[in-house]
Amino acid sequence: MTTRRKFITETAVATAAAITALHPGTKIFGKGLHNLKNEIEPRSGSNGPVVISTWDFGIRANAVAWKILSGNGRPLDAVEKGVMVIEADPTITSVGYGGLPDRDGYVTLDACIMDELGNAGSVAFLQHIMHPVSVARLVMEKTPHVMIVGSGALEFALANGFKKMNLLTKASKEAWLKWLKESKYKPIIDRNNHDTIGMLAMDKSGNLSGSCTTSGIAFKYHGRVADSAIIGAGLFVDNEVGAATSTGLGEAVIKTAGSHLVVEEMRNGRSPEEACKAAVKRIIDKNKNYRDFQVGYIAINTKGEVGAYAISKGFQYALYKDDKNILVDSKSFI
Ligand code: ASP
Repeated sequence: MTTRRKFITETAVATAAAITALHPGTKIFGKGLHNLKNEIEPRSGSNGPVVISTWDFGIRANAVAWKILSGNGRPLDAVEKGVMVIEADPTITSVGYGGLPDRDGYVTLDACIMDELGNAGSVAFLQHIMHPVSVARLVMEKTPHVMIVGSGALEFALANGFKKMNLLTKASKEAWLKWLKESKYKPIIDRNNHDTIGMLAMDKSGNLSGSCTTSGIAFKYHGRVADSAIIGAGLFVDNEVGAATSTGLGEAVIKTAGSHLVVEEMRNGRSPEEACKAAVKRIIDKNKNYRDFQVGYIAINTKGEVGAYAISKGFQYALYKDDKNILVDSKSFI
């Protein structure tokens, strides 16, 4: 008991010291508590590199990720730089710059990232920063935490050299003004108001990383956070098993710890497609109104095999493997 109390006291002191180190304005606070790179041994017989990402814009993101992997880069760099292409594209209104705002007109972003060592970083409800995925990576690498949100995340980003900018483009503002006329609060995902990019990458040695980034459901409640910022929901990577990421109605994914569930299904012997199907089935079983919304998962295992599954037809993913970057239609229940 005494030992336990001593441990708690010491932990509290260490935590207090860490919090002091996070005072606003502090730049980079050292190494955080993440696992170290040299703990991973290369895996023999991997079929990497492989990159897989959600939706048709994944093709462009994959191309950037592939370049990094084929130059022997780290999968973590591949998944960060890959999705940054989509974050920076103002014509994609569901991710990063140009994302459709919440119902009060604010563009708020959610993103997370995981590496081959099980390290994770995340930001949620972040405004004014074009690349939330890079801020999430910095949370992972430079702080003892996993998740920083809202004004704290913005402060953290600015203190670390990110530029503050207006993310609301003319087109997105117009769409919001049009929506305001009716102000119909329907935060349900359909083909017209969604599309997160989630990306999973495996290098030649079989090491995995993943990322996920979104502006979330269009005209959502101010402060609402998507699955895409939540480790285990929008993204999960376990280098011993595989990785998964999601797109679609975040609430349904969060309530079933979706991406973690996909990885656990692979751990229990299912193929990536079967694992994605099982996680979609879980959502269907728990939601009578499943026909009203979409959820799609993509997954990869340690052999470099990939798979996907969605509730409804229409979900696509981009796959870069064996020097070919192709768009694939996912299977679905409906
Ligand atoms: N998952 C995102 C959210 O819940 C949206 C999407 O992927 O389309 O906001």
